Amino acid sequence: MKSMVTDYLDEVLEDVRPGDRGAPASYIPELANVDPERFGVSLATIDGKVYGSGDTETEFTIQSIAKPFVYALALEDRGFRDVLKRVSVEPSGEAFNEVSLDEEGRPLNPMINAGALTTHSLVGGDDWTQGQRLQRIIDGLSAFAGRRLQVDERVCGSELDHAHRNLSIAHMLRSYDIFPQDPRVIVEGYTRSCSLLVSTRDLAIMAATLANKGINPITGEKVVSGRVVRQVLSVMTTCGMYDAAGDWVTQVGIPAKSGVAGGLIGALPGQIGVATFSPRLDEHGNSVRGVRLFERMSRDMGIHLMEVPPSVQTVIRNTTVLVQDLTDDEKSQGVKPQKIKVYSIQGSLRFAGAEKIVREFSSTTIKEPAVALDLTDVHALDGVARRMILEVARRLTLDGKRVYLIDPADVIPKPDPGDGGQVIVVQDRAELRAHQPEKRKKGKKGKSAKKGKKK
Ligand code: GLU
Repeated sequence: MKSMVTDYLDEVLEDVRPGDRGAPASYIPELANVDPERFGVSLATIDGKVYGSGDTETEFTIQSIAKPFVYALALEDRGFRDVLKRVSVEPSGEAFNEVSLDEEGRPLNPMINAGALTTHSLVGGDDWTQGQRLQRIIDGLSAFAGRRLQVDERVCGSELDHAHRNLSIAHMLRSYDIFPQDPRVIVEGYTRSCSLLVSTRDLAIMAATLANKGINPITGEKVVSGRVVRQVLSVMTTCGMYDAAGDWVTQVGIPAKSGVAGGLIGALPGQIGVATFSPRLDEHGNSVRGVRLFERMSRDMGIHLMEVPPSVQTVIRNTTVLVQDLTDDEKSQGVKPQKIKVYSIQGSLRFAGAEKIVREFSSTTIKEPAVALDLTDVHALDGVARRMILEVARRLTLDGKRVYLIDPADVIPKPDPGDGGQVIVVQDRAELRAHQPEKRKKGKKGKSAKKGKKK
């Protein structure tokens, strides 16, 4: 069966193609020579499947789309404190090449040229040569793309011949001691990083690496940390689309970055990276067809970040009471079998889902001496949900209950309910029934994960 995703991309590409509004950037002379009709879209999932339609292999210079990735490398190399001291994270509402600083003398954000020249200077260490810095940037961006990227020397030379504005920004930054290096060297390095050749396929994978917490979905390489990615995606959301960031967030609603060669990327955390290429730019410097394509995809595919599916309505699917097995000895001694109340939990749990579980336990009195939370149908849970469930377990222990987790997929690895709490982990209900509680224990059954002090 041909994938409907490919058919869909073919269809939207043709729907969006008509019209010739906008023009390729001409302030870098070499960029004006491109075929303005080139048009392509690629979509990469976070498990490494790449779809595409149109000119997905055509190479063009990355330009400002390098900015979020260089920002990521600077954060990774220098740490948040050092980088934030030099570059703020406030949307500027100004043109990308504005000569401006905030009240504390910092560039407003890393997505405008003043900020990007600064983050460029921050990659690596203070004692690094410019050659080492540039190599780190090319290696880093190549790792995001999953293949070796090359500089387009013609575009680079063409931009450097006319780099008066960037030189003026760099000299201003140097005069404010924002970086110690020679401004001409920084502009040259920055321009080279903007001149790396990419296709929409490369960019979709780079965006998918951001969507995948910094792990390249094709190569499996962890390029930057999840914490760095969160920072980068946040800044892309508020500052990625030049001075049209507000329109973008409301209409499309995913972290994005565009470049003057006509590229545009969007990263939807936990799902996909998307990239488009069409050189005709609007008055803000964003690709006209690229923006239209993203608007259309956002509507069709429900990718706006504010459109989150509601968390599962029924978190506790059902409750049952299980009777534990007795050994023959116990039966002959007349030991009474113990009852366990089993709660089947389902779905992906975050705060709102875990709160439903907390609410259930706070509002019911459990007669049985033992309680089991069956997590077999829980596919994922975040840190907050995990802590809340373990706190439920702790409070049940303090109420005198024996607490089990049925957790075959290890969704709560090494459960530690903390002070006074104990849980016993079992794989399934059969193991639960067979588990022998401490006081009548004869053999060892069940993977015990008792933690904390007993009160
Ligand atoms: N190299 C370009 C410049 O600094 C990048 C601009 C852009 O893509 O926004 O002017």
